Amino acid sequence: MTGHCNIRSLNPKRQLARRSVAILVLGFWWTRGDALAPSVSEARGWVQRTWVVMGTYLTVRVSHEDPAHAERVLDDVIGLVQDLDRRFTLYDPSSELWALNRHAGGPPVPVSEPLWDVLERAIAYSQETAGAFDVTVGPIVQLWGFLEGPRRIPSDEAIAQARARVGYTQIEMNPSHRTVRLATPGMVLDLGGIAKGYALDRAVERLRQAGFHHGFLNFGGDIYAMGASDGVDQPWTVVVRHPRRPDQTWRELRVRDMAVSTSGDYERFFVARGRRYSHILSPWTGRPVEADVVSVTVVTPSATEADALSTAFFVMGPERARTLVGSDRCRYVLWIRQQGNRLFEDSRSVWPPRSCPGTAVR
Ligand code: AMP
Ligand code: MG
Repeated sequence: MTGHCNIRSLNPKRQLARRSVAILVLGFWWTRGDALAPSVSEARGWVQRTWVVMGTYLTVRVSHEDPAHAERVLDDVIGLVQDLDRRFTLYDPSSELWALNRHAGGPPVPVSEPLWDVLERAIAYSQETAGAFDVTVGPIVQLWGFLEGPRRIPSDEAIAQARARVGYTQIEMNPSHRTVRLATPGMVLDLGGIAKGYALDRAVERLRQAGFHHGFLNFGGDIYAMGASDGVDQPWTVVVRHPRRPDQTWRELRVRDMAVSTSGDYERFFVARGRRYSHILSPWTGRPVEADVVSVTVVTPSATEADALSTAFFVMGPERARTLVGSDRCRYVLWIRQQGNRLFEDSRSVWPPRSCPGTAVR
């Protein structure tokens, strides 16, 4: 198994390269506060820390009454995310995910609670999106050189062979023994489309357990806006960046207790034969998605859901995905499409996000 995913690099040089890429690819930032502060900064009852984890930056800012307690909780949060990274990465042959992939075609493998949990959720999103979201895309992600270069256009035959190893129905989950079996030899699970969102939800859960209710988490562009930006009643401002001009804002939204995730064709891609090939692949064709959608932003109360669905909706396009969104389900989506040089919002977008039960979105 030679699979790699976009979560972690063991190679320090590559990690540094990824850091600088991460700065460029941040889809969002909050309009108040220090972007990418390298260390702890404390002011007016807020503490903020930034780490490099899962091949990108995680910044957590929380309001606190006791700085020492806040520091301990933030240590705990990064410990938790690093633990998930160690389990889910394809950049380390000793990771749990790597071990599971190595047993593809073999017997069931006992898995940890977080790996079980993320796979269960991933499969539920596969079912809901008719397979557009599918963590078994590893063989095709690998084939196109998105896990580890060089990026290339493979032959039709190679694509067909890799596709034969793709399909979430080949993941067999046995809840009574908490084992997972990958039924087809050569299957490769790649959690790159869901891991950051999942880690955000776990981090937020940990913060709430520790009594923190106001904060802002930015995980390489996947956002969770907790409570109020002033610790009282003001929502957080999140910007959706312009898909073609990274320094410009496309939209601003004001949210609290909501996750925001964008999947875009500008995050990782290569250009060949005059067209752009992005890292989001259609499990149906085995090829990068070919459509005029350039970015999809999803806003929901769950970061796991926002992450998985933004990837899925990129694959599905607005027409197929429109039945899965709506204010009644508290799922908001913004589609940005491109025709020629013109960028525009698709009319099937459900935007702007509004209040949902248990949250306050303005
Ligand atoms: P995101 O940036 O969250 O949209 O995730 C993109 C990453 O998810 C890619 O780099 C792949 O690792 C993985 N991926 C690509 N296509 C899919 C897909 N159709 N379903 C699930 N994961 C995917
Ligand atoms: Mg995603």
